[in-house]
Amino acid sequence: MTRAELADHTRSLYRAGLHDHEIAARLGTSQRTVLRLRHTPPPTSEVAMHIEKPRAASGWHRHSACTRPTPVVADWSGDGDTTESIAAQNICHLRCPVRALCLAEAMHVEGAARTRDRGSIAGGLNPQQRNALYRTLRDRQHRAADDPGARGQAAA
Ligand code: SF4
Repeated sequence: MTRAELADHTRSLYRAGLHDHEIAARLGTSQRTVLRLRHTPPPTSEVAMHIEKPRAASGWHRHSACTRPTPVVADWSGDGDTTESIAAQNICHLRCPVRALCLAEAMHVEGAARTRDRGSIAGGLNPQQRNALYRTLRDRQHRAADDPGARGQAAA
């Protein structure tokens, strides 16, 4: 099972009502690992696809679990590792059906912005995580441009 599949499995168990310690026992791992898995962002390839081909569909905000563009937790301004931040990310990861679109829009709108200019949580990622994701995607595009053989991998 890949890490992405394991993260999906962990989130399904959590949605089914299991507590972290029960999931940890079932998977034979620690509660800390379960917490990390629950917060694993979607594969970068999925995000890259959305960035390269933004969906024309509008109105997806109506289906969101929060009131974007208002931050999930209105007064959240921490460094991404606070209780409020984690609580807000839980809302994105566990309750929001449009998380991938939200993340794609944030990445598209923010572009190469600095971390401190990236606002608060969007698509389940805090500003630091979105900045890291941006750099990963940018590096992947640069590699694809330098190596024609890697283009298929970047588009996958
Ligand atoms: S992913 Fe999070 S921030 Fe984005 S719309 Fe859903 S709940 Fe709101």
